[in-house]
Amino acid sequence: MASALSAPPRPDADTPDARKGQEGKDETRVSPMMAQYIEIKTANPDSLLFYRMGDFYELFFADAEAASRTLGIVLTKRGKHQGADIPMCGVPVERAEEYLHKLIAAGHRVAVCEQLEDPAEARKRGSKSVVRRDVTRLVTPGTLTEDSLLDARRENVLASLARAKSGEDGAGDGYAYALAFCDISTGTFRVSETDPARLAADLARIEPAELLVPDAIYDEPAFRELWRTLPAVTPLPKESFDGATAERRIAGFFQVATLDAFGAFSRPELAAAGAIVAYVERTQLGNRPPLAPPVRESGGAAMVIDPATRANLEILRTTSGERAGSLLAAVDRTVTSAGARLLARRLAEPLTAPAAIAGRLDSVEHLADRPALRDALRERLAGAPDLARALARIALNRSGPRDLAAIGRGLMEGAAIAAMIAAEGAPEELMEAARDLAAPPPALPATLLAALADELPPYRRDGGFVRAGFDADLDATRALRDESRRVVAALERRYVEESGIRTLKIRHNAVLGYFVEVSAQHADKLREPPFASVFVHRQTMAGAVRFSSVELGELEAKIASAGERALALEQTIFDRLASEVLAGADHVRACAAALAVIDVASGLARLAVEENHVRPEVDDGLDFSILGGRHPVVEQALRRDPLASGGPFIANDCDLSPPARAKAGRIWLVTGPNMAGKSTFLRQNALIAILAQAGCFVPAASARIGIVDRLFSRVGAADDLARGRSTFMVEMVETAAILNQATRRSLVILDEIGRGTATFDGLSIAWASLEHLHETNACRGLFATHFHELTALAQRLKRLVNATVKVKEWDGEVIFLHEVVPGAADRSYGIQVAKLAGLPAAVVERARAVLTELESADRAAPTQRILDDLPLFASLNRAPPAAPAASADPVAEAVKAALTGIDPDELTPREALEALYRLKGLAKGGEGRAGPCHLLT
Ligand code: ADP
Ligand code: MG
Repeated sequence: MASALSAPPRPDADTPDARKGQEGKDETRVSPMMAQYIEIKTANPDSLLFYRMGDFYELFFADAEAASRTLGIVLTKRGKHQGADIPMCGVPVERAEEYLHKLIAAGHRVAVCEQLEDPAEARKRGSKSVVRRDVTRLVTPGTLTEDSLLDARRENVLASLARAKSGEDGAGDGYAYALAFCDISTGTFRVSETDPARLAADLARIEPAELLVPDAIYDEPAFRELWRTLPAVTPLPKESFDGATAERRIAGFFQVATLDAFGAFSRPELAAAGAIVAYVERTQLGNRPPLAPPVRESGGAAMVIDPATRANLEILRTTSGERAGSLLAAVDRTVTSAGARLLARRLAEPLTAPAAIAGRLDSVEHLADRPALRDALRERLAGAPDLARALARIALNRSGPRDLAAIGRGLMEGAAIAAMIAAEGAPEELMEAARDLAAPPPALPATLLAALADELPPYRRDGGFVRAGFDADLDATRALRDESRRVVAALERRYVEESGIRTLKIRHNAVLGYFVEVSAQHADKLREPPFASVFVHRQTMAGAVRFSSVELGELEAKIASAGERALALEQTIFDRLASEVLAGADHVRACAAALAVIDVASGLARLAVEENHVRPEVDDGLDFSILGGRHPVVEQALRRDPLASGGPFIANDCDLSPPARAKAGRIWLVTGPNMAGKSTFLRQNALIAILAQAGCFVPAASARIGIVDRLFSRVGAADDLARGRSTFMVEMVETAAILNQATRRSLVILDEIGRGTATFDGLSIAWASLEHLHETNACRGLFATHFHELTALAQRLKRLVNATVKVKEWDGEVIFLHEVVPGAADRSYGIQVAKLAGLPAAVVERARAVLTELESADRAAPTQRILDDLPLFASLNRAPPAAPAASADPVAEAVKAALTGIDPDELTPREALEALYRLKGLAKGGEGRAGPCHLLT
């Protein structure tokens, strides 16, 4: 990296040190280039300024310091500003993306400032004039489009939050809130209402790479915690969110007179969408990404899943942030990145409308039943490029020849795929996708494929991407360039023939260009008629004379410019093709979406067959009846590693449907030892609900699910040290959220709530929470606990069902059967688990003894007795010894004496036992025969 910086001097006249000569004269004088730099930098104070100088982007002052730290590149200095050295570092233009990636990932924004003219142009204005430059693009986390800056399988969402005073006073803070969000790399654009209570859940669903918020909201303490959970939050002045101008701005962007055709938007929705449009315009500086018109999401269309639940269920990534091990990774069998993005989006926002869910399931079923069609589709899809992202780059003037080819190939594949689907008919979702793929403009893919070569360079500036035979002018120009030798050779042959000078040669050098050379003895011939009118003397060398000719001069000019001309022609063709693509942008976007839909359906169908998933029944009822349910991630992990796991996944039923005549679903209270499989069971049922409502088949023998409106999942005592709250506090805050928000339609998963505090505290909280869920929320739920006392509640709470995970005890060991059965666990088997975990044998034994005592004794105050008996504390509690000198201890002496009198080899077992009792008596200080020593008395 650093080597790039020690590269040769940058070939630009207006570098800061070009003004070195004047430094001594006037310390405060600012060079014209620095003046330009400062002006541009002042206009972009919140971004690092990439200032183009020849083949480098240079950074100065504090920007240079920040960039050199983040990028690990050398900080140098160039010239002086107001008497002080100017810190500087730079990145080579051809590697700029790589550096941008690091800077953006580190939370910076970058303003890219280009040279807007050839330095030669600037020199024409005078030796001291500065090359015209300006910012051509602002690079921010939410506005990326380059493949190298993006994860192909993840959306890159720019979101904005706006609010407006709501007319009605009453609940909330008197404001109505809305979110708008788009992915400029794919063109999706949506708006939805929100409120402070569900904002975190909405943002967790949308996962913005960058969120725009008005300054006022940004500064409100209530939101500060939330901002910290997001990768980038950009505060903007309130004018950016001005509702009054938003409508005009959006209409202007989409080049329509009014927004009526897009639907009815509330004021905050308009403000949020307007802010997005303004920001896109501001960062893209005149380039218009192919955004679809904003679509309004209806409230309640998606299952509400708060951030803690998402993290806990590891839907899109594990708690450590990896994709591997998540639900998404377990069910993703897509073959395109657009398909992978759509699947992630669907899992992030499961639907709540049974008809829409059934529509998706129909597609999966259709393809699950048709292996030949499915495999053929998947093979075709695998060759289909990422249409949406290619289109975005073309629209933003950031594309290369490969993007154009991607559009051509994608549309071709799309047409073939449409035909395959339509051939045998399909459910509506697939047919609609097929119609989109089959729609015009039909000429576009053919044109693109005819125009572009088979092997394509990455950048348009490289040239060489237009197929030979596509453009006659280009072909001729290239022929001239490529065949320059042949053309020159032909001319040379003619000159030889005409002059009769066999040794005449056409040569080339940097000073003369092409010239004719003959030996001195033949030179005179060329100076005489008729040749004197053709050849012009240029140079006389020792033994050789050089001439030029008009013909040769013309040829030379042609050859020299042929390369440039070919390149220019290719650029024109590129622009023409790009504008043809953009003319069909809506169609291309629709095709991209259609391909993603087909990829998701065929991927899920493949999953269903491979992993034995079934179609769930989803309706408006309150049932939750899963037969033979499995955890998709754990099941696949166990199969991958059968030796380590000791067996296949054990399927389990779960029935939370309302009992006969009841109006609310059941809550299962699941007890059982650690490691039995409680947590796995809880999560698998939550995951099955997500999969079903996202429109996927589910890992079960059968599943019937009444729509879940909100899903909650909590684990007791989860660590959240990063946010600086005690684990128990977190647990309680999250439990509070559930008790306040869960409805009759919700599904609540509580795993060992109350674990993070003292036993009786925890038990009491768990107890009261369970009662509240049952009586007030009346939701469906699964509640795993190690508080066996809670099982008594089933007698009183009508819809509470005790379930336990079976274990078998065998020879002092515990065997986990992972089987969920009715009833309550009678024991915890914690000590057996501790033994399995490898606690020292002495500790295990001691624990068993303590447990026996705890279980047998009156539970009011067992601790003191246990403490008294603890070896460690025994000495502390005992009365201090009478005499400090240990050697004079009479008891020890007596025991020692008695021991010396015993010969173990001579004793019968019975005598040995009596001897032991005697010794024990002695040790206690008494003489008489003591009873058997009880450990805990
Ligand atoms: P608990 O919450 O009761 O302590 P877990 O759900 O964490 O137990 O499960 C412990 C381990 O048991 C898991 O890591 C998994 O490997 C295994 N396991 C859990 N459920 C099953 C099952 N149904 N079939 C097979 N193995 C299981
Ligand atoms: Mg557990």
